[in-house]
Amino acid sequence: ASHELRTPLASLAGFIETLQGPARDDPAARDRFLGIMHDQAGRMSRLVNDLLSLSRIEMKGHVRPSDPVDLVAVLRHVIDALEPLARDLGVAIEASIPSERVTVVGDRDELVQVFENLVENACKYGQSGKRVEVELVNRAGAPVVTIRDFGPGIPEEHLPRLTERFYRVDLDASRRHRGTGLGLAIAKHILARHQARLSIASRLGEGATFTVSFPQAKA
Ligand code: ATP
Ligand code: MG
Repeated sequence: ASHELRTPLASLAGFIETLQGPARDDPAARDRFLGIMHDQAGRMSRLVNDLLSLSRIEMKGHVRPSDPVDLVAVLRHVIDALEPLARDLGVAIEASIPSERVTVVGDRDELVQVFENLVENACKYGQSGKRVEVELVNRAGAPVVTIRDFGPGIPEEHLPRLTERFYRVDLDASRRHRGTGLGLAIAKHILARHQARLSIASRLGEGATFTVSFPQAKA
């Protein structure tokens, strides 16, 4: 984490020095550097937010959430929120979600965060597949959410490490999409609190499938 924060900070400090010195009287350079600095500050602020979110979740890791949460509403909300991004990327989100409620015991905002990241990842990194499927089924009272894209997929050797913090398969793609590499690390912690399981499957060239399996609701 310290490296991820130090790099943009060092670069920011470097640009400030340049602006105070050599570039002081060069308006064109000044504009360009300020643009870069703005991006870097934005990146650092996303990083800090994600790190804070991760440590908050780690802290309450062993406390079970206790609210009834409707997964149908959570997924509809996530899809609505990501529709503009998907449209910009030329990706169609196809939902296959039951009309009646599917309730789990959980923390609504945390679950929104998990599915937002999974659907966002599918749209960004699976963009070339042009569509993303979001499916919710209730298997004998045990809800299963599947998010599938048809992009480049993820080489098998990366799969076990995807939920490590800052782990990124394609650094360029992640940078381009302003990723911090913390989304799946956060998701893993949140799902552990929910006693839910995340499994990832992929075939190269055919896309990736992220499956979240919730425990069976107690009667
Ligand atoms: P953040 O979620 O913090 O914005 P991020 O998206 O880079 O940043 P994660 O969500 O943790 O971080 O994902 C980690 C990496 O896993 C991504 O950078 C990408 O390389 C890879 N990845 C995730 N989902 C997919 C996918 N559906 N297809 C291909 N690669 C993926
Ligand atoms: Mg992500």
